[in-house]
Amino acid sequence: MPSKYKILISNVNFGKAFPKGLQELQNSALVIENSAGKKFTVEDFIAQDISTVDIIVAGTEKICSQVISAAKKLKLICRVGAGLDSVDLEAAFANNIQVVYTPDAPAMSVPEFTLAVILNLIKGIGIADRLMHEKQWCRYMGQSLRSCWVGIIGAGKIGKQVIKLLLAIEPTLKIVFYDPYVDFVDGAQKLEFNEIFRTSNIVSLHIPLNNLTKGIVSKTQLGYMPKGSYLINTSRGEVVDEEGLYYALQDNLAGAAIDVFANEPYSGILCDLQNCILTPHIGSMTVETRALMEQQILEDLINFINNRPLLRSFKYKQYARTT
Ligand code: NAD
Repeated sequence: MPSKYKILISNVNFGKAFPKGLQELQNSALVIENSAGKKFTVEDFIAQDISTVDIIVAGTEKICSQVISAAKKLKLICRVGAGLDSVDLEAAFANNIQVVYTPDAPAMSVPEFTLAVILNLIKGIGIADRLMHEKQWCRYMGQSLRSCWVGIIGAGKIGKQVIKLLLAIEPTLKIVFYDPYVDFVDGAQKLEFNEIFRTSNIVSLHIPLNNLTKGIVSKTQLGYMPKGSYLINTSRGEVVDEEGLYYALQDNLAGAAIDVFANEPYSGILCDLQNCILTPHIGSMTVETRALMEQQILEDLINFINNRPLLRSFKYKQYARTT
């Protein structure tokens, strides 16, 4: 029997990795999909007759206070992913809208992705590949992982797994980390925030974007990094000063790998630099992770529709810690 709920799926391609689940949902609710195939803007949300929508299933498109106040019937936001920075949580909680997400699923794929770009950077694979495609034979001199110091900012699910993977390849690797809420990680030494940048020639960011982390990696931290070092950002674009990074990449940094940007889709100044590997927010994009994320979101959607407890809801007290 059809439920009374109207569900707007703004997340592009939702259901491709786990079609069975979406088909089942379509049998029990009115489901509107993103037919434009592009990331929704506020205007796109409003154009969808948002005032009649009960549930939104979203990727990283912004569900800001303007969308929330227009969505008069909204009861549930399902965020297909781990970061909740795209949702105005204050507005959601103030309007009694519940939020579910998939915090564990990306921890399967983002660490592997991080490892891949670290090795790519220190071996110069991206640069050599680009030159070969221009028919230039340039034998790039790379670096061995064993001579590197790796600094991890944020030792949560992804950061810890990056440390594990690195140590599995190179057990004697020197790894340091900073996380205000984590004191011990096996195989890594905790240092102060700025010390990570002073000591490490590879720094990888694995922190959430919130009021406390916005712009946390500024020109100052980039300036501390030793000559010839690398920055990896698979967390969120806004945690790094992009212009500062652009200049550091022409000064002390040998390279960077950036998967996330303040404005996505991205086509900014970093595109002009050969020593910056750019990827379109694909850290978690594996078939396995994507299928798991869709499955988990659909599971909680069905729970919600059937008035059962939600398995992965984000609570107000978790949000309060970051403000
Ligand atoms: P997590 O919550 O398990 O870990 C985040 C860690 O950061 C926590 O241990 C927390 O204590 C720490 N932290 C918070 N503030 C900090 C600060 N100021 N300095 C240092 N550490 C701080 O989250 P996770 O699953 O490891 O994911 C981390 C982030 O990765 C997500 O918030 C998301 O933004 C990003 N992410 C990106 C992709 C992608 O496709 N590129 C996919 C999934 C997640």
